[in-house]
Amino acid sequence: RDTLQQVDPELWQVIQAEDRRQEDHIELIASENYVSYAVMQAQGSQLTNKYAEGYPGKRYYGGCEHVDVVEQIAIDRLKALFGADAANVQPNSGSQANQAVLMAFAKPGDTIMGMSLAEGGHLTHGMPLNMSGKWFNVVSYGLNEKEEIDYDQVEKLAREHKPRIIVAGASAYALRIDFERFAKIAKEVGAIMWVDMAHYAGLIAAGYYPNPVPHADVVTTTTHKTLRGPRGGVILMKAEHEKALNSAIFPGIQGGPLMHVIAAKATAFKEAATQGFKDYQEQVLNNARVMARVLGEERGLRVVSGRTESHVFLLDLRNKNITGKEAEAALGRAHITVNKNGIPNDPQKPFVTSGIRIGSPAMTTRGFTEIEAEKIAHLIADVLDAPTDETVLAKVREQVSALCQRFPVYGK
Ligand code: PLP
Repeated sequence: RDTLQQVDPELWQVIQAEDRRQEDHIELIASENYVSYAVMQAQGSQLTNKYAEGYPGKRYYGGCEHVDVVEQIAIDRLKALFGADAANVQPNSGSQANQAVLMAFAKPGDTIMGMSLAEGGHLTHGMPLNMSGKWFNVVSYGLNEKEEIDYDQVEKLAREHKPRIIVAGASAYALRIDFERFAKIAKEVGAIMWVDMAHYAGLIAAGYYPNPVPHADVVTTTTHKTLRGPRGGVILMKAEHEKALNSAIFPGIQGGPLMHVIAAKATAFKEAATQGFKDYQEQVLNNARVMARVLGEERGLRVVSGRTESHVFLLDLRNKNITGKEAEAALGRAHITVNKNGIPNDPQKPFVTSGIRIGSPAMTTRGFTEIEAEKIAHLIADVLDAPTDETVLAKVREQVSALCQRFPVYGK
């Protein structure tokens, strides 16, 4: 067996460099995480060789007896984790899970309602350049003056526009979402209630964020954010929608499922059902809360919505006279990885922005607790106070390096 290093040393080197980057930088991108070795092993297995169009027991290829078992294990674990009637583990990504919902329940030209990208929603919830925005008539809702989801606006718009589908869920929203209220509104206007819980799925599995499954017709999620699985998507649904959603995924928008990724999802779902995962999610919440408190109350930055009730929060950088783009670059030079992010009513363009998004899932996986979270928040503020001061950047980089060495990701 020739190793990757022997077969393709050029690529091997780049992978080693990325591995080092992941070890040596503090990762605060809210949508990222580090999977376990077990998950990587499942994903790197021989299952990548197998075609399995169709679903367990109903395939269009021979030789599926073992991958059938793999997929059924993934489905059963996922259903148990969130208390769902039915599940589809085949979506290749969160976006493809979301496309399947649109395909199953709406026709081009129909009206859908989702949270505006500029106020925290996701591309696939109706952004004009995304398929969801190009093919459907999109009515967007947003935040009220307290920077909380404006449920009264949702209700008013839903009554006025009678959408086919209402989607709740966000990529940059720190607070709990009232899924029950959304579902009541959807029911009143005869809309399909769809929740995209991609960001919150791990917290929900652990019981630290409201579970949308009892309230929604369909729930989609990525598997690689707080849920800490491989990159991919899944769909949870009421039994009555199983046929429509399964056929939207295959043959609707996908061909052969990625069986090696489905195996890795199954392992991640097993991990997510443990007490260790529950403890991890509690720490994710605590670390986010500590960082938001230090940055907001001690270091004079404005936290959008004033607080966080999840793994993520946005910082409004306008009073520091630095854009999101500049902050991302300066923090990057100090080996702290974040992403620029628009804030509500952002005066800057989406590629510049006035904010950054900070998330605790990955840093918590490597073992950081409140003590390190507090320290990291101060390091972030030090950089934002002097983003072009090379002495400050070097000092921060040194402290980041010390923290990273004390808490290796993969225990090297
Ligand atoms: N839905 C939400 C709320 C997201 O935040 C994301 C990713 O950032 C997605 C869907 C899309 O997932 P993917 O990148 O796997 O297509």
